[in-house]
Amino acid sequence: MGAGMARYLFISDIHANLTALEAVLATAEGLWDHAVCLGDVVGYGPDPNEVIDRIVKLGMTSIRGNHDRAAATGVCDSFNPSACAAIEWTRGRLRTENLRWLQALPAGPFSEAGMVFVHGSVEDEDEYILSADEAERSLEQSPASITFFGHTHVQGGFRLRDERIEAFRPPFAADAEAAPMKLDPAARYLINPGSVGQPRDGDPRAAFAVADTGRRAIEFRRVAYDIASVQERMEGAGLPEPLVLRLAFGR
Ligand code: ZN
Repeated sequence: MGAGMARYLFISDIHANLTALEAVLATAEGLWDHAVCLGDVVGYGPDPNEVIDRIVKLGMTSIRGNHDRAAATGVCDSFNPSACAAIEWTRGRLRTENLRWLQALPAGPFSEAGMVFVHGSVEDEDEYILSADEAERSLEQSPASITFFGHTHVQGGFRLRDERIEAFRPPFAADAEAAPMKLDPAARYLINPGSVGQPRDGDPRAAFAVADTGRRAIEFRRVAYDIASVQERMEGAGLPEPLVLRLAFGR
């Protein structure tokens, strides 16, 4: 992280879930000066236009995710049938200016304030980093010592120190604030704030992170939201059942 004091809000994988996004923004209010979205604003969920409107209004730094790319281009060959059906549904509802906004999103890696932002990995926005082995190349190749990523929908990350890579997961305490994790200046980090709109780490609550670049500290947070209301909107929209059900399990 660069010099100067700034508090950064990190969000990722919102997946058109406005209720989860609003819960995150309400909880994070007053905690940040800059905000970054690591991709997958749309796909899976019922509120693509509403979520894009909110992100645009906040003036966040945003990079594209694989679902944003698929919604922007209509190409979803690498997706499973449910994900592809949701992309087709999304493309049928996107307002023209929101489609253009998705088409204009930059792909990572994106550098800001001495940090690097990617959706999947440093080399490939579609690559999943779920293990220390998978983290190795990005930890070594990133131009910054701290790289933020998304895509896996798993909150936590990886630390490279003394040629060893360790995975870390935040403690899933209550909604109340967890103790901030201090970042070791001698280590390199890959940090995932988790998914706002479709967590897959066993905790169905919306995830986000706040980084304090001055104190070199990061705080992982979870916040409960009204999952049932989102599931109702998804059912009303005719979105695939597996996508509706998984929200409640966080898987
Ligand atoms: Zn995603």
